[in-house]
Parts: sequence; C-alpha cells; structure tokens
Amino acid sequence: MDDYTDRNGTPLYVLTKDCNDIYIKREDMIPFCFGGNKARKAQYFFREIGAGGYDCVVTYGSSSSNHCRVVSNMTASRGLKCYIIGPQEASEPTYNSRMMELFGAEITTVPVKEVHDTIEAKLQTLRDSGMRPYFIPGGGHGNLGTQAYVDCYDEIRSWEKAHDVFFDYIFLASGTGTTQAGLVCGQLMHQEKRKIVGISVARKCPYGRDVVMESISDYLEQRGCVIHREAVEEHTIFLDDYTGDGYGKENSGITDVIWKSLLQYGIPMDSTYTAKAFYGMLQYVKREKITGRNLLFIHTGGTPLFFDGIGKLTST
Ligand SMILES: *Cc1c(COP(=O)(O)O)cnc(C)c1O
Repeated sequence: MDDYTDRNGTPLYVLTKDCNDIYIKREDMIPFCFGGNKARKAQYFFREIGAGGYDCVVTYGSSSSNHCRVVSNMTASRGLKCYIIGPQEASEPTYNSRMMELFGAEITTVPVKEVHDTIEAKLQTLRDSGMRPYFIPGGGHGNLGTQAYVDCYDEIRSWEKAHDVFFDYIFLASGTGTTQAGLVCGQLMHQEKRKIVGISVARKCPYGRDVVMESISDYLEQRGCVIHREAVEEHTIFLDDYTGDGYGKENSGITDVIWKSLLQYGIPMDSTYTAKAFYGMLQYVKREKITGRNLLFIHTGGTPLFFDGIGKLTST
C-alpha cells in the first residue's frame, strides 16, 4: 500500500503581529483525495483491510464527511464495495457526498437514532450473503486512528529536530477527538512539555473532553504504557468556547478568517473545522496573552468543504 504521510508538506512559517511564530502543518496536502486527517487515518485501516482479506467496507458519516469521501475513494481504488450509513438530519448534497456517489458508495440515510442498529443490520446482511465486511468507525475513530496521530507526533518531533525549533503549543480542530488523542499520546510517551490545544468544533465539555481522554487511555492500555490518570487529565486541553451554534454552524468571525487565510497565505480553510480552530487559536492567544512563542497549527484538511462555502466569500 502506498504510504503518503512521509511526503507530507513541511510546516509553513508565518509571522504574526502579536510576536508569536505560527507554523502550519499541511495535513490537507497529503496526496490522496484532497488529503486531511481522514486520509492519514484511512491508510492504517486499509492496511488492515488488505492484510485481513476483507472484501467490502461499512462506515458511518454525514453528507459533509471528509472521512466518507476518503474511504469511498480508497475502497473504489481497490475494487471493493463501500457502504455508508448516514444521518438523515445531515444529508444535503455537498462536494464530499457527490464524490462518495461517484466512487459508487451505497449510501443509506436513516434518522440518527437508528444509525447504530442500521449498521449492525448491514454488517449481518453482508455476512449472511457470504461477504467479509470491515467496519470503520465514523471519522476513523479508534486505536488505529489514534496510532496515525501518534506517528504524526513523531513526524512533528523530527521536523523540530531538523529545524531546531520547539513548538510550545499545538492547535487543532477536535471533532471525535482521535486526532488530538494521538498527539497527546505521543506527547505523554515522550514526556514533553508543551500544550496541545484541541479546539472543539461541536462537542461541549465535559463530554467532548472525556471522549478524548477515553481514546488516550484505550490506546495507552493497548500499548501497555503505564501513564497516570493525572497526566492524561493535565495534558488534555479541549476548548469548547468556539463551537458557535454547533457542528457545521458558523460563528461570527469565521468568514473573515477564511478570507484572510486564503488571501494572505493562499491556504483554504473551511467553516466546519479548520477555520473554526484557527479562529479559536487566535482568540485563545489573545485571551491568554501569549507572546514570543512558537505555535503549530495543524491544518486537518477539508478542502471540498472550502468549496461548499466559497459563495459566502465572494459576497463579503
Ligand atoms: C474529522 C476532521 C477533524 C476532527 O478530527 P477528529 O479526529 O475527529 O477529532 C478536523 N478537521 C477536519 C478537516 C476533519 O475532517
């Protein structure tokens, strides 16, 4: 299987007015189907799919899911069938859902409370018909997804060593929390002092933060690492101040962030994930009066969502 992550773009250097150096790690440049953290995670699931002789994939996500876009493409490229179960409540067509259709994924939408049972039923039907389905949790959640970002943390450390830089802060958009969990696991295993700040795009505390900590504990336990609960507590920073009206809903200031980042740096961001997190980071830096530090922002992808929202930009 092709490994895309080690050709991943190096962080980009930007100087801001408040005297912090902001670097951006371009996960959106991972060269498979518009990249993003879902492309990095999917590689790990597909290694297991290849090794285990599975012949189809079942996964979960809404019509705007970056995960389902990437997974349907990887599945199609291997000549396998992809079944997506999605919530009716979030099923309006987007560029992501159009691509899922192009890749021949079979999309079933049901009310969100029926999702769990529908997935179980689909897996059973496939098994009964003699197929060998592989289930990928929504968003690539789980220890394999966490592993992808433990490895990303190591990439970041190598970059720091090669460039003689230490990032005091790492900021990222946090959804299911797997990406953040992987980075924090990496940090805990190397016992490094820095702040990894997850900006929630939807979930509120304490639930959202608890899910991140649960993923961290699951992973560490599976790896046989003994790390104290207090250390996990201390290093899990999950900010729910910038969720706006919830998942996919913008908060004020986002459109401005998207436009400026495109105009000044040529970097596309989207209102559901990356711009929300970038905006949250700028607010947090101001609020905490952080100056003279090296900040790393992880651009977690979502480029097709940028295009879904482009109409709002031209009218500003
Ligand atoms: C899914 C996603 C996230 C959140 O990642 P999690 O691992 O679910 O927290 C952030 N940014 C983008 C662009 C995503 O697609």
